[in-house]
Amino acid sequence: METHLADFIRGTQAGREAEAILRKCVHCGFCTATCPTYQLLGDELDGPRGRIYLIKQVLEGVPPTEKTRLHLDRCLTCRACESTCPSGVHYSRLLDIGRMAVEERVPRRGVDAFLRGVLREILPRPVVFGTAMKLGQMVRLLLPGALKAKVPPLTSAGTLAPDTGTRKMLVLAGCAQPSMYPNINGAAKRVLAKLGIHLFEASEAGCCGAVKLHLNDAAGAQENARRNIDAWWPHVTAGAEAIVMTASGCGVQVKDYGHLLQDDAAYAEKAARIAELARDVSEVVAAEKTALLALLEKSAQPLRAASGLTASLLAGRHPLAFHSPCTLQHGLKLKGGVEQILAAAGFDLTPVADGHLCCGSAGTYSILQPEISLQLRNNKLAALTAGQPDGIASANIGCIAHLQAGTNLPIKHWIEWLDERLAH
Ligand code: SF4
Ligand code: SF4
Repeated sequence: METHLADFIRGTQAGREAEAILRKCVHCGFCTATCPTYQLLGDELDGPRGRIYLIKQVLEGVPPTEKTRLHLDRCLTCRACESTCPSGVHYSRLLDIGRMAVEERVPRRGVDAFLRGVLREILPRPVVFGTAMKLGQMVRLLLPGALKAKVPPLTSAGTLAPDTGTRKMLVLAGCAQPSMYPNINGAAKRVLAKLGIHLFEASEAGCCGAVKLHLNDAAGAQENARRNIDAWWPHVTAGAEAIVMTASGCGVQVKDYGHLLQDDAAYAEKAARIAELARDVSEVVAAEKTALLALLEKSAQPLRAASGLTASLLAGRHPLAFHSPCTLQHGLKLKGGVEQILAAAGFDLTPVADGHLCCGSAGTYSILQPEISLQLRNNKLAALTAGQPDGIASANIGCIAHLQAGTNLPIKHWIEWLDERLAH
């Protein structure tokens, strides 16, 4: 796509990136067919091709309006369009650049500005968010239905195994996860301990920066990244093998640290190294496949002896639906790995139609665009429950919390289902 950038962005790093991305787009529109917001709203400007066109106009100097901003706000950043695009258009990066440019030219006002400010300041602070969540959990039964659905009951990380692993990996605690679903990292620690890996958190690390970046605060996201790098670096130099993420949304962000801090002379090199070491927990478990299969075989023995069933009959006794988060399948491009682990663990995965579509959680999207988000959640739950599973597995806290608010079926991180399976 031929582009003539306006003075404000021509010659800048963002301008060069945007130009290269725009050049790749050939207007074919294949991406539109797999875009959740286009499917729901039926407007070209609420699909990737239309949004690319809007961003191009802004970067060429056409003044954006509130309507331009609305079409960009409605994008989930799910990146299904990137998975579909045959030309390799890096849409999400172009969107970040476009959103920043629009944000500067069409300032937000009133409730919208206030809500975004609150989300930007509270969500990424584990202590503030955790305190608010604890208060909510204490009075949960008294809360009105809609709010109650967003506050999970108080739970714990469970019993952790003593540190006997010779291999050590860092794990990101995250901002919302410790207070909402502490058992996710608890389960990851127990499972990896059984595979000979000690997972530990660096206490100074915090939010990965995704919340701020998605609320158009790039400088805040860079600050979060620098703080995490400072927290992790001494452990990396001391031999920590990897930095493990149990939320695929955080995984996408940390794996992008090299790009995020590429112009920061003091941090660029360290950021690139940290990004290289970042792993989704499914990558770590998949790399230990032989040890995992041995563990599963051992844990199946008592069951098999007690029931008299063969291994193949034991498998399939627990139908489970897997919701692959957009950040896992489109962001990290990790497709099928979790499903293989769950199948090996004896879960019978039920079919899920339109598995490429977003559930509507998308970070703060469910709060900022509640109507679209709710429609997507209802569609996703219908697809997930069509095969009559006993429960649902996912890989990102945002999706888990969002989906759980709409069903009584248990929804857990897949590592929690695996942890329970190995505990038998
Ligand atoms: S990121 Fe998702 S919602 Fe946004 S344009 Fe692409 S497919 Fe549509
Ligand atoms: S599929 Fe790719 S090349 Fe085609 S319109 Fe969409 S972004 Fe452009």
